[in-house]
Amino acid sequence: MSGGIRFDSVTVAYDGNVVLDSLDLTVEPGEVMALLGPSGSGKTTALRAVAGFVRPASGRVFLGGRDVTDLPPYRRGIGMVVQQYALFPHMRVEENVAFGLKAQKVARGEIRERVALALEMTGMAAYARRRPRELSGGQQQRVAIARALAIRPDVLLLDEPLSALDARLRSDMLAELARLHRELPDVTILYVTHDQVEALTLGDRIAVMDRARLRACGTPRELYRAPADEFTASFLGGANLLPVTVGEEGVFLGGRRIKVSGEAPGAAATLCVRPHLVGLGDGPNQLAGTVSEIQWRGSTHRLCVDVDGNRVMADVRELKDPPAHGDSVTLHFAPEDAVLLAAGVTDD
Ligand code: ADP
Repeated sequence: MSGGIRFDSVTVAYDGNVVLDSLDLTVEPGEVMALLGPSGSGKTTALRAVAGFVRPASGRVFLGGRDVTDLPPYRRGIGMVVQQYALFPHMRVEENVAFGLKAQKVARGEIRERVALALEMTGMAAYARRRPRELSGGQQQRVAIARALAIRPDVLLLDEPLSALDARLRSDMLAELARLHRELPDVTILYVTHDQVEALTLGDRIAVMDRARLRACGTPRELYRAPADEFTASFLGGANLLPVTVGEEGVFLGGRRIKVSGEAPGAAATLCVRPHLVGLGDGPNQLAGTVSEIQWRGSTHRLCVDVDGNRVMADVRELKDPPAHGDSVTLHFAPEDAVLLAAGVTDD
């Protein structure tokens, strides 16, 4: 039976410092949950609490509906892959992959079969006799994944598995992981990353962590389109966050009236609009300002425009004749492309 993961108010502290604060989170069976957040926000600690390498100060961890809080790691039946591969250098690839199975005393014939299958799934069948030092970083990580899959885990924990790889390999491996997930739809995956592209690409849902706490949880689309707070908005995809006042006459940015669809959270709010949804030239919600910075990014230009002391970013299709620093320009955005957030929630 495949199992999901449930954190029930899990708190972890080191020397009295709370590094994971009352985490409540459920990962459904077969789901990929990306745990996304900056370094030090508690992601790895959460993952280690599932693996059994840290003991919560309070709260419970459930796997497949079963309370495993008091079980040692080896009895949790979990596959785990970390950033630094952690292969045994003196063992051949096939021995590395067989390691967990031998520890579980799986019959020899079955070990052979499972190792072969895991190596095939990860595209490493041709390398079974090599030793780790004879492999590239990407290949070593594939072996680490094969080793985790060989034990046929219900739950796979991945901790920044791609961050030691260069950009090109990272993107290939991301596609590989997506393929593996399609081939193993029953395996529940908790994927720790600080990289929003990995989270958006792989996560069925994303849990956003900030300073030991869960900030938001939702599908990539939900969190991107309608982020719950300023932290989520800026961490996931980058955003213009502009202070506005909300009254009976409408929503005002400085002296300008702005049209926004959706509810206002209060009299002071933050207008959130993604840079690629801000256009150059006339249109709805027109903002006049001065170019303070312009960056050419290949297919787009990023304009930073000073609008009455607010910095507004616009990512526009590459311009033949881009404006220069100090030029006056007009920006605009559609009412349905902006959302209003509660002001200053990040600084509580
Ligand atoms: P993330 O994975 O989001 O980068 P971690 O969960 O690794 O964050 O760490 C969260 C906080 O806990 C950090 O401040 C880190 O320094 C601290 N921490 C992690 N492991 C230990 C440990 N074994 N002893 C003391 N502090 C730790």
